[in-house]
Amino acid sequence: MRVLDSNWFVLGPEVEAFEQEFAAYCEAKHCLGVGNGLDALHLILRGYGIGAGDEVIVPAHTFIATWLAVTYSGARPVPVEPDPLTGNIDPTRVAAAITSKTRAVIAVHLHGQPADIVAIRQVIGGRHIRLIEDAAQAHGARVNGSRIGSLGDAAAFSFYPGKNLGALGDGGAIVSNDPQLIHGLRQLRNYGAVAKYQHEKQGWNSRLDELQAAFLRCKLPLLDTDNQARQVAANHYLAALAGLPGLILPTTPAWASPVWHLFTIRTPQRDTLQAHLKRNGVETLVHYPTPPHLQGAYRDLGWGAGSFPISESWARQTLSLPMWPGVPCEFVSAAVRSFFVSTTN
Ligand SMILES: *Cc1c(COP(=O)(O)O)cnc(C)c1O
Repeated sequence: MRVLDSNWFVLGPEVEAFEQEFAAYCEAKHCLGVGNGLDALHLILRGYGIGAGDEVIVPAHTFIATWLAVTYSGARPVPVEPDPLTGNIDPTRVAAAITSKTRAVIAVHLHGQPADIVAIRQVIGGRHIRLIEDAAQAHGARVNGSRIGSLGDAAAFSFYPGKNLGALGDGGAIVSNDPQLIHGLRQLRNYGAVAKYQHEKQGWNSRLDELQAAFLRCKLPLLDTDNQARQVAANHYLAALAGLPGLILPTTPAWASPVWHLFTIRTPQRDTLQAHLKRNGVETLVHYPTPPHLQGAYRDLGWGAGSFPISESWARQTLSLPMWPGVPCEFVSAAVRSFFVSTTN
């Protein structure tokens, strides 16, 4: 009602207030609301002047948006395999993929599990390579006690309704401690305008609207409580499903505090387990059945089956159990256990 009464619907006081509140939440200096998470990633690359002729290192195992941001900019995505245990981009393989054309590394905190930002930073060393966090699945996660979103040069968040912090529609944000980047992006998100009808750059239209910002301001104070409830469910799953033969549970390094956007298990019997769970009233999803390098959209890059075997193995074996604050995890874990007990007996 506050927004409707104000008659101000795009980039106004609610967006500005949310930007300050979300920057503070991420322990960062600046935040800019944008249209969605993909735009946030794409605009960060544009803001750093990354484009044709440049290479950007991306995880081979991720949602396709990470790659799309790179190809929108005109740069070439250079896929890197995940650590086989965590599923997140492997810092030693990042080191091997760096060339004289590398301008950025995008680390995705996949499924709410923080990527090894500290090791990636070390691998980059003194080189002029930006470290960008794709934080679309990890609002509130921590690395060594510090919030993700403030650990790289810039971070992209999505507020798609299904994310840990979701709007009632599309939304996204860029978070950074880099005032120069933020200054440039403030214009790029709004037609490249430095003042009304004065356009210094060919910008985009990617703005957060006042209603979504107001909804997000209502929901942000609940995020930590929600993430704790996800942790309670994850703890239950980890205990109840430990030791089942042929089942691999998520691995969390000691320095990481995840926020369990998804709880993904792995098993070679994925498809029969999924069918068993469905018969027992448990809906599951696969994130993601086909890695970006095998999608039709990227056929022209020339990758094929076998190009990234670790990612392909994840795609074949991964299954996301129901996960949300208050999920009936005991019902779910009993159904999972019944599959492994009946097939091993
Ligand atoms: C959801 C998501 C995005 C894109 O966010 P949208 O708001 O849907 O554009 C980018 N990267 C990852 C890892 C995501 O999960």
